[in-house]
Amino acid sequence: MRIVDIRERSVAISRYADPAIPSGGLTTSIVAAVTDVVRDGRPVVGYGFGSIGRFAQGGLIRERFAPRLLAAADGALADTAGTNLDPLRAWAAMMAGEKPGGHGERCVAVGTLDMALWDAAAKIAGLPLHRFLADRLGRPVPERVPLYAGGGYPYPADDLARLRDEMRQLADLGYRRAKIKIGAAGLAQDLRRIEAAAAALGGAGNLAVDAMNAYNGPAALEAAAALAPLGLWWFEDVCDPHDFPTQTAVTAAYPGPVAAGEALFSAAEARLLARHGGLRPDRDILLFDPVHCYGLPGYLRIIDAMTAAGWPRQAFWPHGGHLFTLHVVAALGLGGAEVNPLCFPPFGGIGDGAIVTDGFASLPQLPGIGFESRAGLHRLFRELG
Ligand code: MG
Repeated sequence: MRIVDIRERSVAISRYADPAIPSGGLTTSIVAAVTDVVRDGRPVVGYGFGSIGRFAQGGLIRERFAPRLLAAADGALADTAGTNLDPLRAWAAMMAGEKPGGHGERCVAVGTLDMALWDAAAKIAGLPLHRFLADRLGRPVPERVPLYAGGGYPYPADDLARLRDEMRQLADLGYRRAKIKIGAAGLAQDLRRIEAAAAALGGAGNLAVDAMNAYNGPAALEAAAALAPLGLWWFEDVCDPHDFPTQTAVTAAYPGPVAAGEALFSAAEARLLARHGGLRPDRDILLFDPVHCYGLPGYLRIIDAMTAAGWPRQAFWPHGGHLFTLHVVAALGLGGAEVNPLCFPPFGGIGDGAIVTDGFASLPQLPGIGFESRAGLHRLFRELG
């Protein structure tokens, strides 16, 4: 049981469905991990990418983490029966010699490869990832998963009209709740955006807002005071992810749910957030991205850290907005999944033709993550060779 080849490439991704709108040069890494297991005359290949919102990590993947997987001895990556990859053992091989702390975006490089290992292992088992993972962890699989649509980035022209169209389109696709961005254009414009989006979604209780860590202390409190009466679903990424005093001041002043954790990448940071962030396990939301947090093994440690601190699994709504997080939410029994149906093509969204009904989706049934159910994404992975 070996990984015989790992292909990697950096690709551009856009926040907008319309490729004509500039999106700040964001990239991600895509990888293909080729195993020595043959099915139907072809080697089983696992695909992964670096989720959304952090840049590509090609150097770290090529120079540090892929070589450790390729150099692993026969059997070192296998499960106890020797019949499949064990992604947890493979993760330990990737992390050999790494010191605690100093996460940088090393965690994203590891998470990218980790996604491909889970895809390969579930394909070898002939199971969709959520079933493979749930079996491994001894957990039940739900029939369907609650979702919300991420999006609502500011448009450089006709912002309100285009935002309204986007939200209506999401509602037509079957989403009941959505999230838009605020914090870039001033509070007055943000309030106009919120009013427009909430109207298209049937009320502010169906709308979350994401400030993308834009506010310092006074601006965060000013925004919290303006948003508090609106009854939003949640208020996300208020300030710098390590600014625990501001985070605490906001939760003290803002009665509604606050969401945090998207830009924290380790169990040690999660414990700091639980201890010093002023968050309330009875209502607040945890956004940790399973890919950005060193992949699933790191994410499982974060869930352990937060549940030990009194948090329910229902508080986890992981950042990402793609197929991998849908499987993770289902298998781990988390609150629900972000989906980016219109942003970050071809990575955002779930399967081509997947049906969302009243804010819920049933689960994909192809072996692995099921990137093969998405024509544009599958084409991109196949170009890796
Ligand atoms: Mg966010």
